[in-house]
Amino acid sequence: MYPKPIQELIDALTHLPGIGPRQATRLAFFLLKDRQGVADDIAESLRTMREHIGECAQCWRSLELYTKEDKQLCAICKDERRDARQIAVVEKEADLHNLEKLATYHGTYHILGGVISPLDADSPKRLHLRALYNRVEDLVQKNDKPIEVILATGSTAEGDTTATYIERILSPLKEKHPHLTISRLGRGLSLGAELEYADEVTLTNALTNRK
Ligand SMILES: [Zn+2]
Repeated sequence: MYPKPIQELIDALTHLPGIGPRQATRLAFFLLKDRQGVADDIAESLRTMREHIGECAQCWRSLELYTKEDKQLCAICKDERRDARQIAVVEKEADLHNLEKLATYHGTYHILGGVISPLDADSPKRLHLRALYNRVEDLVQKNDKPIEVILATGSTAEGDTTATYIERILSPLKEKHPHLTISRLGRGLSLGAELEYADEVTLTNALTNRK
């Protein structure tokens, strides 16, 4: 057992994705012996991030908070050249960034904040599903032009379960409002692929061939 403050840092680091106890121990000792100010920079960045980063009130993308007001919109949601009647539903922010690289998508996004795990009955509650339903409902009620929700989850088992689940919860809206379309990315994505790692050609094809 290491002295308590070191052990606490090791334990905290093991909560990071992809970090096991051995790597956590290595990192902790690196930070302990650090002479270049890396540890101070990290501590400072973490503090700044917690204070100045919030989430977009519409799509849940992270944004820099300019005021104390909590209902801020991100640059994409505020951009009037973007098609607010098209919403790509993605698992996480990295997926949004990957779609943004294409420059062929001009709609908006909705970040779920994860996927539904068939083994975890509580997982739907942790996603921004209620907010998605409300957003789509609001849009279809105020609008009679075509509205499209593109389910852009990964082609993993969880991504698929999540897309099916969303289709089901939005289907009552679709029945009432025929101008609402729910589509899924085409099968250009290979099985088990996460959107975050898909290359541009694959992603463009998947987007073009949505159904
Ligand atoms: Zn936004």
